[in-house]
Amino acid sequence: MGTNHYDVMIIGTGPAGLTAALYGVRMGLRVIVLGDIPGGNTHMIESLENYPGFPGGISGSQFGVQAFQQAQQDGAFFTMSRLQQLDEKDGLFVGADTKEQRYTAASSIIATGRIPKRLKVNNAHVKGVHFCSLCDGPLYRGRSAVLAVIGSDNGAGQHALTLARIADKVLLVSKDKEFKMDTALQSRLIEQNNVSLLPNTEVIDYEGQGLLEGIVVKDPKVDRKSIVVNGVFLAVGWRPNTKILHVTVEKTADGYLKTDNKLMTSRSGLFAAGDVRESDMYQVLNACADGARAAKYCAEFLEERNFLG
Ligand SMILES: Cc1cc2nc3c(=O)[nH]c(=O)nc-3n(C[C@H](O)[C@H](O)[C@H](O)COP(=O)(O)OP(=O)(O)OC[C@H]3O[C@@H](n4cnc5c(N)ncnc54)[C@H](O)[C@@H]3O)c2cc1C
Repeated sequence: MGTNHYDVMIIGTGPAGLTAALYGVRMGLRVIVLGDIPGGNTHMIESLENYPGFPGGISGSQFGVQAFQQAQQDGAFFTMSRLQQLDEKDGLFVGADTKEQRYTAASSIIATGRIPKRLKVNNAHVKGVHFCSLCDGPLYRGRSAVLAVIGSDNGAGQHALTLARIADKVLLVSKDKEFKMDTALQSRLIEQNNVSLLPNTEVIDYEGQGLLEGIVVKDPKVDRKSIVVNGVFLAVGWRPNTKILHVTVEKTADGYLKTDNKLMTSRSGLFAAGDVRESDMYQVLNACADGARAAKYCAEFLEERNFLG
């Protein structure tokens, strides 16, 4: 085999991929990890407060970078490039990355997470619509901005909390009758004097040509009402990130990868971990646990088939 052959090819550098890499190398596997953002979606978490071991919380970016360093120190090889497609040929998984390098491996762990959805409105791509408050919120600092967060869950609540420190006013808008976030987070939002919660309110359009000038909403009292906002931060759902997969695998109706109780997909030797996989909880803790288990069962799979050199 050439130098680009590994026991396991891990796709994704979020908590699932990084934990799979850490466990994989510690079990003696030759591990390659493709991905470009150390920590994946954790860079959007201002303060990770529900992961044990960090009383008072840890910044999501710091958590991601440290997990990355830990896997690297233990011997995982990172390409720092994205995978363009994953195929299977002659019993091996074959990946080509954005640097036009080709890698092969006897097994693979898909840990590519999920991508935020946009609203289905006329000018959905107008400038001023964002997905990450930590990344893009600072654009509005010092601009007397009114910002709208659209969504209902903990992710939406986190965005609103982050933006409350930057904007004059933050509107948290959800078409749900009641917000679906933790009670503790909702209480913290209510304590902020510049956050307004607007449940039962659906955003039906954006206003502005080229640059966002406002949102149009409907609620039980009015069919159409314009609200001036300078920026929108979306937290309205997710789409699993599986488009690189050029092998056929079973998925749920929403496109999440189906796995057995050893995290193997319907394709032998192809495992899935973290948010890309069908689950009832999409959190850092679950992604890490998935990564560890996927690496363990991947090692077992390789051992049983005498794939380890
Ligand atoms: C705003 C916000 C707040 C959150 N707050 C919390 C919280 O407080 N507590 C908590 O536990 N969870 C929280 N979460 C959820 C948590 O971030 C996710 O559950 C977790 O990051 C999932 O990890 P993952 O490794 O499965 O996927 P991700 O973190 O999404 O990582 C996937 C990785 O795959 C990479 N990738 C994708 N395609 C390719 C490709 N073709 N080639 C190479 N790499 C690729 C991506 O770049 C990314 O690095 C929050 C999420 C958001 C958005």
